Amino acid sequence: MSYEHIEIPADGNNITLADEETGELDVPENPIVPILYGDGIGSDVGPAAQMVMEAAAGETGHSITWARVYAGEAARDRYGENLPQETVDTIREHRVAIKGPLTTPIGSGFRSLNVALRQKLDLYANVRPTYYLAGVPSPVKSPEEMDMVSFRENTEDVYAGIEYEAESEDAQKLREFLRDELDVTDAIHDGPVGLGIKPISEFGSKRLIREAIEYAIANNRDSVTLVHKGNIMKYTEAAFRDWGYEVAAEEYADETIDEDALYDEYDGEAPDDTVVIKDRIADNMLQQLLTRTGDYEVLAMPNLNGDYLSDSAGAQIGGLGIAPGGNFGHGRFLAEPVHGSAPKYAGQDKVNPTAIILSGRMMFEYLGWTDAAELIRDAVEESIRTGRVTYDLHRQIEGGEKLATSEFADSIVDEIRAIS
Ligand code: NAD
Repeated sequence: MSYEHIEIPADGNNITLADEETGELDVPENPIVPILYGDGIGSDVGPAAQMVMEAAAGETGHSITWARVYAGEAARDRYGENLPQETVDTIREHRVAIKGPLTTPIGSGFRSLNVALRQKLDLYANVRPTYYLAGVPSPVKSPEEMDMVSFRENTEDVYAGIEYEAESEDAQKLREFLRDELDVTDAIHDGPVGLGIKPISEFGSKRLIREAIEYAIANNRDSVTLVHKGNIMKYTEAAFRDWGYEVAAEEYADETIDEDALYDEYDGEAPDDTVVIKDRIADNMLQQLLTRTGDYEVLAMPNLNGDYLSDSAGAQIGGLGIAPGGNFGHGRFLAEPVHGSAPKYAGQDKVNPTAIILSGRMMFEYLGWTDAAELIRDAVEESIRTGRVTYDLHRQIEGGEKLATSEFADSIVDEIRAIS
């Protein structure tokens, strides 16, 4: 493949798919990994994460050959477009990549680049582990009770991009269709109206929920909770719940039981090695996360619920500067922090790079480099525990040393070398 602006260093090797069915990878010595710094604070946190990942890989006998790829503003400068095809192709070809945040101006008419990238690569599952790091200031009393992994459906729901602007010809056509063909006569007010469509499919729901169940089984987690608004949206959100119970019963009958059976047949005590499948309505779930935090281990959610719930859970363990994430599907993994491009802090060497550093940790886990992954976690935790933190955490703790983004990354690298 020839590239216009992307340089693939000759000394790296491609990651390939070892098993189509399971998505298992063949990871060579010195794999090529695309890295996209992103917009806004991406140029602060991206290089910081790169440095930390290199140090952790190096100390555990691995190495990475980076290929810089571009989207957002950096791509507009080079290509005159936001999401160049060669960026998508490079990530597709190399299978495992890491990215910083990309800006989506509100109501500007251009679709979220993050959503577009996930859809183009069909990275259908967004996964966000939410766990407490010792020393991180938190707004709740017992943040250590949270140790949860969220699986958010990434390709459908109200994020599918099927939306029509008020007073547009398409909105008018859709409105007439609803009135004339489907007898929707009094649910839409007169006058200008924007319309959106919310697709939730059996296929999309089941493949996401399958990933959550497989994760729970492989990692000895006690439960998977399906989070929905099925009381209001019966044919989309309740369908998501029903397909969830169905996939568990049909494909994981020996490894799962549903919550009703837990009480009816097992007196509330799940047999060993069994994952309990339960469901909660999304608004109740937001309360439960605060009041019964420890009861929830793995969540499976449609796109919008997943967005709200995982940000809120992230706030409990220290906020956006900390929360890592990743997207996967078909033997591909794209690591990315939960936070956005925080434009007002861009280029100030100020914000917290922990979220993207811990996203890099997830990427290492995906590569099977568990030793390097653990080293990153331990080093980050140690720096925070000893009060060497960026401004966002510093203002919430007593004492401590306020570090710039780059100084914090240096501190993690020192810690990595000290631990190993
Ligand atoms: P944001 O996450 O960029 O920032 C909100 C606030 O959170 C910031 O003002 C800052 O106080 C804090 N914050 C975020 N990251 C931080 C960090 N690393 N360290 C310390 N504090 C941090 O959210 P926003 O302002 O709603 O969005 C800004 C832009 O980012 C928008 O264009 C939005 O579409 C985009 N966005 C992109 C992604 C992504 O790329 N995956 C995710 C969310 C938002």
